[in-house]
Amino acid sequence: MTLLPGITRFLRLDRKTARQISAHLRYFTEISSVEVPVKMPHSGSKRLRVLVDMDGVLADFEGGFLKKYRAKYPDEPFINLEDRRGFWVSTQYGQIRNDLCAKAISIWESKNFFIELDPLPGGVEAVKEMSKMKDTDVFICTSPIKHYSYCPFEKYAWVEKHLGYEFLEHTILTRDKTVVSGDILIDDKPDILGAEPSPTWEHVLFTACHNKHLQPGPAQRRLLSWDDDWRGLLESKRQ
Ligand SMILES: [Mg+2]
Repeated sequence: MTLLPGITRFLRLDRKTARQISAHLRYFTEISSVEVPVKMPHSGSKRLRVLVDMDGVLADFEGGFLKKYRAKYPDEPFINLEDRRGFWVSTQYGQIRNDLCAKAISIWESKNFFIELDPLPGGVEAVKEMSKMKDTDVFICTSPIKHYSYCPFEKYAWVEKHLGYEFLEHTILTRDKTVVSGDILIDDKPDILGAEPSPTWEHVLFTACHNKHLQPGPAQRRLLSWDDDWRGLLESKRQ
């Protein structure tokens, strides 16, 4: 602030402009000193950090896709959910006929696809419950598609709609989940790879129509649905 007279002379500012700059500087000094409440761990207690995927875990991506694909392409072949195999929907559709791959992709690249996904049974309730548990931090950890016109916006909007505005503070959008630290990642994608070869989290595979036939690795645990014992799973990580 003491530099202001010198700056005023140097820039040859009139008094009114100098006063306006001074007011702006005071404002920024004040807002930068506002304290943001941070949830600090109690000394001696270890907080558990749970990362929860969105599509196929909280939001019904597969059901939403099939409904909109059939509405848009009523004369094209489709795959019933019980016949889905493999994580990538577009790959399996491309195996039926090459051009169906692009038709499948056009569904989730469309406006309102992500925001209109229904919640999967029990997921929103489970996340709300775990976020209230002692010494527990829950984050939604989700990968937006690279066609970014609608998806990132709609993912935030979905979180606000179903979990509440305050949960936006606990929402992570990333293409690489391996660089996010946590104790557990609940995710329906069988292989979660990225820049970090040894992520801090244990990947718990959430059962979905496309992965239920896979044999999990010897050390890999599953959550069959939100009716399964997710409370026990969290408890096992506190030991
Ligand atoms: Mg998923």
